[in-house]
Amino acid sequence: MKNQIKENIDVKNLAQKNISLKENDNYNKYNAEILNYPDDFSEYEINFKIIVIGSKFVGKTCITNQATKHIFLDNAYEPTIGMEIYNLFVKIDNKIIKLQIWDTCGQEIYRSLISNYYRSSSLAIIVYSIDNKETFQDLDLWIKELKLNNSPDSKVVLVGNKLDLEENRQVSYEEGKKHAKDNGFIDFFETSAKTGENISKMFIKVSNILYEEHLRFKGIETDEQFKTFRENKPNIKLIRKKKKEKKDKIKCC
Ligand code: GDP
Ligand code: MG
Repeated sequence: MKNQIKENIDVKNLAQKNISLKENDNYNKYNAEILNYPDDFSEYEINFKIIVIGSKFVGKTCITNQATKHIFLDNAYEPTIGMEIYNLFVKIDNKIIKLQIWDTCGQEIYRSLISNYYRSSSLAIIVYSIDNKETFQDLDLWIKELKLNNSPDSKVVLVGNKLDLEENRQVSYEEGKKHAKDNGFIDFFETSAKTGENISKMFIKVSNILYEEHLRFKGIETDEQFKTFRENKPNIKLIRKKKKEKKDKIKCC
């Protein structure tokens, strides 16, 4: 992987403007609620693409399965082939949004798919495993790859997974938090895909972040504004109310 990444990329470019990593942040500002058993959500207002990246075995597939299906694939490691897409429906601010979560494998053989994978994603979840220092050290490579394939202002949430393996911890909470802060990431969570700890919380925060971004574009009215928005955010389904056409009134006497 190292060979594939140009070293001259400035990681700091990923820094988010006006967004800081706050302790005790109000993580559910817009009252997001994960819809666990959706009957029919063919109707949703906004669709966001989220990618999950990080080194092999850190738990990317397990996190995605725990979030969307409430299952844990214990000791059943099977490399994800290529990529898989999972849907998570969330009710937020009385609207339904769809998080389309793209899970990939970290194997070299599939790297040709990579630019397709990153394309028009709204947010990246970068995962390491708290019981494996090497996966933490790999983070810079993932950040560089994200920067190479995505827009410079990509939103990133950092996740230290396998929180249940506390006795084997090799990366402290403070190290993880500092790494997220230094790189300007939006947030940092430690999770366990095994016990489910913090998994929903993390996706609720992600929903709030993306929804807030959506609200920033709500004021779009003119065709020119809409065109600019589509070019920059092709993955967001923006619903524009059509203005009622003025019908010529038939004058009658
Ligand atoms: P990926 O390569 O990043 O997709 O990793 P997987 O999701 O396939 O998980 C790799 C291995 O780690 C599997 O054996 C999982 O059972 C295990 N695993 C994943 N998440 C956790 C976790 O939170 N806690 C523990 N104890 N094991 C986990
Ligand atoms: Mg996987």
